[in-house]
Amino acid sequence: MDQKDLALYPYVSEASSYVASLDFSLDRLISSRAMESARLRGKERVLQSIEGEIQKPGLLSSDDRKILIELLSYPFSRILVSCIDDPFLTRRYSLAEAVSSYKSLKGRDPGFLKDLAREFGIQAKVEDPGFSMHFTDYIRLAGTLKATEWKLVNRKLDSGYVNVSKDEFARLLQEGVKNRIEGSLPVSVPGEIVQACEPYLEEIRAALHERKTTFGDGSEFGSVESELFPPCITYAISQTRAGVNLAHSMRFAMTSFLLTVGMSVDDILNLFTSSPDFDIEKARYQVEHIAGASGTSYKPPSCATMQTYGNCYSPDGICKKIKHPLGYYQRRIWLRDRDAQKQASKKPSSAPSSEGSSS
Ligand code: SF4
Repeated sequence: MDQKDLALYPYVSEASSYVASLDFSLDRLISSRAMESARLRGKERVLQSIEGEIQKPGLLSSDDRKILIELLSYPFSRILVSCIDDPFLTRRYSLAEAVSSYKSLKGRDPGFLKDLAREFGIQAKVEDPGFSMHFTDYIRLAGTLKATEWKLVNRKLDSGYVNVSKDEFARLLQEGVKNRIEGSLPVSVPGEIVQACEPYLEEIRAALHERKTTFGDGSEFGSVESELFPPCITYAISQTRAGVNLAHSMRFAMTSFLLTVGMSVDDILNLFTSSPDFDIEKARYQVEHIAGASGTSYKPPSCATMQTYGNCYSPDGICKKIKHPLGYYQRRIWLRDRDAQKQASKKPSSAPSSEGSSS
């Protein structure tokens, strides 16, 4: 890889060796004035990951200094993520770095992808079209992807090798990148380094807090009463927010439920931005399809179906009285309104009761 590629894919071992060869001390990265641009870019990487996507600068016409700043910003961003040591941030940052790589890798030639794959211990052959890769590598990387097209049974297996398109191969490399980065964080950061990083951490902590608050207080639900959702849907939403990839059946159940209770397509897409395999165009197509863009609108599955697919989580007392997650929501609304009415009717009668009315 040349220096530009090392800056674009800074998690490869060659990039670490290159940085080590520069004889660059950690102290210098943290405190040298000349390194301020690298530190600011490192902070920007983390902030962008919280927002959703790390934007990679065009490095083609960049001078060596800019390329070096981009390369050195990566170890600094890892230090910042480690200083905060928040599992949500670690997951989000790793995912954002991986997605950003995927976008760039889609445009690279097959030989480059094959070489990069070797970095992740993937045995692959360039085919016409696409790639073939050993099934054990395929399972290792596609195992967390829930869409049915990734299931091994839906793939052609030839002498232990699975065929994938170039785009799919890049997508699987994304998983490899995410696993590598997530698995290597947090790095151990001495107390004095944490202190030296404080000026860069404040903004990140604030952005992280805002992100968690915004997406954790139900504000995207508008008039939809998320606190009255059934446990299965609440669980699915919390998993989605945490960046966990939902099983296809659960994703369908959650999406159709949210659409039925009145949540907009855009707000649902917003919720999915944390998903590891989030692809805005694909997700929009799927959500709009469930919403009825093709003429059929899909209703959420019943509790019996949810149970069959293992999607019924922590049923509570109300669950015993209903047969459908929508029934749960309606019953909670009815109970809430009934309680509100009771409270309202108590108010005018509270004064007379103290005068001796029957209790
Ligand atoms: S019983 Fe129904 S509503 Fe309750 S958690 Fe299970 S699937 Fe959801």
